[in-house]
Amino acid sequence: MAAPPGLKSGYAKEMTHTIRKILIANRGEIAVRVARGCRDLGIRSVAVYSEADRIAFHVRMADDAICIGPAPSNQSYLVHDAIIQAAKISGADAIHPGYGFLSENAEFARRCQDEGLIFIGPKPETIALLGDKLAARETAVKAKLPLVQGSDTDTSDLKQAIAAARKIGFPILVKAAAGGGGKGMRVVHSEDQFEESIRSAASEAKSAFGDSRVYLEKYLARPRHVEIQILCDQHGTCLYLGERECSIQRRHQKVVEESPSPIMTPELRTRMGSAAVEIARRSGYVGAGTVEFLVDEQRDFFFLEVNTRLQVEHPVTEMVTGIDLVREQIAIAEGRKLTLRQEDIQLRGHAIECRIYAEDPDNNFMPSTGTLNAYVIPAGPGVRVDSGVVAGSEIPIYYDPMIAKLVVWGTNRAEAVTRMKRALEEYRVSGVETTIGFHRVIMDNEKFLAGELSTRFLDEEYPDNVYRRVSDVVRERAALAVAIDKYVRERKISVSPPQQATRSNWAAWHRHGNLRSFKGSR
Ligand code: ADP
Repeated sequence: MAAPPGLKSGYAKEMTHTIRKILIANRGEIAVRVARGCRDLGIRSVAVYSEADRIAFHVRMADDAICIGPAPSNQSYLVHDAIIQAAKISGADAIHPGYGFLSENAEFARRCQDEGLIFIGPKPETIALLGDKLAARETAVKAKLPLVQGSDTDTSDLKQAIAAARKIGFPILVKAAAGGGGKGMRVVHSEDQFEESIRSAASEAKSAFGDSRVYLEKYLARPRHVEIQILCDQHGTCLYLGERECSIQRRHQKVVEESPSPIMTPELRTRMGSAAVEIARRSGYVGAGTVEFLVDEQRDFFFLEVNTRLQVEHPVTEMVTGIDLVREQIAIAEGRKLTLRQEDIQLRGHAIECRIYAEDPDNNFMPSTGTLNAYVIPAGPGVRVDSGVVAGSEIPIYYDPMIAKLVVWGTNRAEAVTRMKRALEEYRVSGVETTIGFHRVIMDNEKFLAGELSTRFLDEEYPDNVYRRVSDVVRERAALAVAIDKYVRERKISVSPPQQATRSNWAAWHRHGNLRSFKGSR
């Protein structure tokens, strides 16, 4: 097997850093990722933590740590003052926001600037411009990017909205202008559901973002989600680092990502990459970012939005390009010039990421909280686990339940899938339910293996929301049968007298599906 490409950089190796200490305004796996990046560069790191995260893994991974408030994130990780103060007290010169929390908050980025701290991300004006989906669409029009047909004004006014909807034609997607994380989004199939959908989307947007503006887009039937990673320095160089296919989604949220996309051609990559660079230039982009597109069955692509931060799925790009994105972010924030040229960016092999959540796929992905009694992560060739937890960690109720990202690399897609299956088998977690079994099911899916993906994949392939492999069910039931048999024998319990329990009795019992009633006690 060829090894994954070594991490390379557009900067001189021996560079000394003007940023000497970075406060990481985040928690979980991304805080750990950034702390590791800092250590690789000889930069000191400062963790912040809430009262619920006192002994969290990210706290142990940083050089210093400061408590910033009670468990709820609106009293800790989202409090600008607390984070700025922590940066000042610890003597940090820069703040890395990770993703989520304050990463796309223009006001916070501005505050950092005003306080003389470097915000590792784009300029506040760029964040504000691209964070507003209506303004971003306008910018995309100016940059001559293809867009999904839509209403390019706020349609909170119902009359206007209905007129716009009729023009676009159903099905329609109502979207929040300030949206993110799938919030304030509603699919509307016909005019009679329209009014209610607009109202509920607007009210959800108001409570999530303090902004009730919504607009409409034509709802594409079976698109793929393909996004381009960009990297722009402060001196006008802007590069694209290939794509990530993120079509496997639950409720419009990504769960599996890969690079390259199975449908990509060099010609399409050049067109999408150039489009991404064009909108980046138009918005004065600086730093690492992602331009998201939908791609239809004819391989036509349409601009979706720009994420002005490091993405959850950035490791798949790191695996195939060999470029350390956190390192690049820091160097760009220091004002260095990118010395890489577009032609230096070569994609090698194939990488896949599975997001591992503490959620119960058998119970509608209900978040699962508790203590990780056992936690054994996979390793070996081509495997990377970005984990926010270790054995003994608590999974609190307050935050996103993603505990880790399992990323694998292979010389081609088939090898990467095989390696992902191996890694998923090695992963051992007890104490909370996880999505590991769910990912095993996807890795066995014929359509997934054929690269036939769309954002409707999970709905179409698993309409009953049942994600279990036949072999897992059989194995699980066999294990239970043996355990029950042992229990019955040890206690000399007589079941169904006058017969003694035998394996064949149990087997018959399982066949009738009675073991389901034991599920709750596992
Ligand atoms: P958010 O910022 O809330 O995550 P996005 O605009 O990035 O919202 O879209 C998230 C997902 O929603 C996409 O990956 C896709 O699955 C779906 N989606 C968004 N717009 C459309 C559309 N016009 N047609 C079909 N699906 C869409």
